[in-house]
Amino acid sequence: MADHTTRLNDPSVTANAAWAARDLAHVWHPCTQMKDHDALVPMIPVASASGVWLTDFAGQRYLDAISSWWVNLFGHANPRINAAVRAQLDQVEHVILAGFTHPPVIELSEQLTALAPAGLSRCFYADNGSSAVEVAVKMSFHYWRNAGQGGKRRFITLSGSYHGETLGALAVGNVELYKDVYQPLLMDVITVPSPDAWGREAGESEADFARRQFAHMEAALVRHAHEAAAVIVEPLVQCAAGMRMYDPLYLRLLREACDRHGVHLIADEIAVGFGRTGTLFACEQAGIRPYFMCLSKGLTGGYLPLSVVLTTDAVYQAFYDEYTKLNAFLHSHSYTGNALACAAALATLAIFREDDVIARNRVTSAHMARQLQRLADHPHVGEVRQRGMIAAIEMVKDKPTREPFPWTERRGLAVYRHALTRGALLRPIGNVVYFMPPYVITPEEIDFLVEVAREGIEKAACA
Ligand SMILES: *Cc1c(COP(=O)(O)O)cnc(C)c1O
Repeated sequence: MADHTTRLNDPSVTANAAWAARDLAHVWHPCTQMKDHDALVPMIPVASASGVWLTDFAGQRYLDAISSWWVNLFGHANPRINAAVRAQLDQVEHVILAGFTHPPVIELSEQLTALAPAGLSRCFYADNGSSAVEVAVKMSFHYWRNAGQGGKRRFITLSGSYHGETLGALAVGNVELYKDVYQPLLMDVITVPSPDAWGREAGESEADFARRQFAHMEAALVRHAHEAAAVIVEPLVQCAAGMRMYDPLYLRLLREACDRHGVHLIADEIAVGFGRTGTLFACEQAGIRPYFMCLSKGLTGGYLPLSVVLTTDAVYQAFYDEYTKLNAFLHSHSYTGNALACAAALATLAIFREDDVIARNRVTSAHMARQLQRLADHPHVGEVRQRGMIAAIEMVKDKPTREPFPWTERRGLAVYRHALTRGALLRPIGNVVYFMPPYVITPEEIDFLVEVAREGIEKAACA
C-alpha cells in the first residue's frame, strides 16, 4: 500500500484520482468485473449530486440518465424529500417493527393501499427489492400450505425475467448472465417464453404476439397448476433483459388464467412502479389486480432502501390463527419498515399528489419520443421503443435481419465510455442503450441525452 499512500500525498494527483485509488484498494463493486477498472473504465467518485446531475471532485458533471439504477424519481437532493428525512431524524430513526410501530409506516401503508389496485389492503415490509420477491414467493407457498395444499410449491416465470439476486429471487428470474453460475444452488422453476415484443414477426402487432405467446403460459398452467403456487412477472417491461416491452393484453389473459387454474399472480413492480410506464403502477394499464405486488426502487424516491409486498385480505386471513397452529408468517429483516425510509416514501407520494406527476410525465415522455425518432433510421438501430419514462434503443449488427452484435464485442461499453466524456451516465444493457431518467429532467436535457446517445451509437456500432 506504500504506492497508494504516495499517490495520496502527491498534490499533483487530483482528488478524483485519489478517491478512485482508495476505492479500488478496498471496495468490491456490484455487478462489475473489477479488472475493467485497471484501464478500460474510470472509477468516478461523486462529490455531490443535485437534480439530474452528479458532480465529481474535479467539478465534472454527469447527467444521471438511469436514475442511479432506476431508483431516483425527483432528482438528487430533492428539497422536499431532504426536509422530510431531516424532520424524521429528530423523531425516530429506526425502531423494531415487531410489537412496535411508528407513524410513517402506518401512514405509508394507508396511502399505498389506497393507491394500489383495489383489494391490495395489506402491506408487508422488507428493505430491498430482492427481499420483497423472497417475501412474495414464501408467502404464496405458505398460503397454499395453510390452505391444505402444500404440494403447490413451484413457480412459473418468463424467459428474460429479472427479480433480484438473492437465491430465491435469482431462481425465479431468467437472465442467464446472472443466473447460470448459481444454477446448482437454485430451486427448479417452470420457465415460459416471454411475450417480449422484440420477438414478434414482421407485421405482427404487439397484442397479437402477446396473445400468441400466451398459449405457452396457458399450456404451462394446464400442466402444472396442481404443483404451482404462483406465476411471477414484471408487468409491461422486462427491464434487466434490456427494457424489453410487451402488450398489456398478456397481463389480462394471465390474470384470468391464474384465477381459472387456482394459481397466484405475483406482479414485480419494483422497477416499473411509481409512474415509470406512464401510470402509477403498470398493472393499471391492464386493469388487473395481482395477488402480490412487490415495490421498492422508486418507493423512497431513490433515497433509502425500502420495499413492500402488498397483498389481499384473503391472503392475510390464511395466516391469521392461534399461535400454536404455527401458521404465522415468521419472516423478518432487521431494517423492516425503517422510519427514515418511510418518511422519504411519504414525501415521494406527496410530490406525486401535489405536482400531478403522472400528467407532467406524459408531456416529458412525448418529448422524449419525438427526439428519439431521430435515431430510428440509423443503420445500426434495430428498434426504438418506449413505455412512459423508459426508452430504449436496440443496437443491431444488421438492421434488416436484426442480427445482434456478439456480446463479446461490448458495444454497449463503448457507448458508456463515450457518454462519460460528454458528461452523461448512460449504462447500456448489452446492446441496448436506454434512458430511465429522473422525472425532473428538462426537454433540453433530454435533447442533450439523445445527442450523446446518437454519437455513442455512431462510435460504438460503426467501429
Ligand atoms: C431491481 C429489481 C429487483 C431487485 O431489487 P434489489 O433492491 O436490487 O434487490 C427485483 N425485481 C426487479 C424487476 C428489479 O428491477
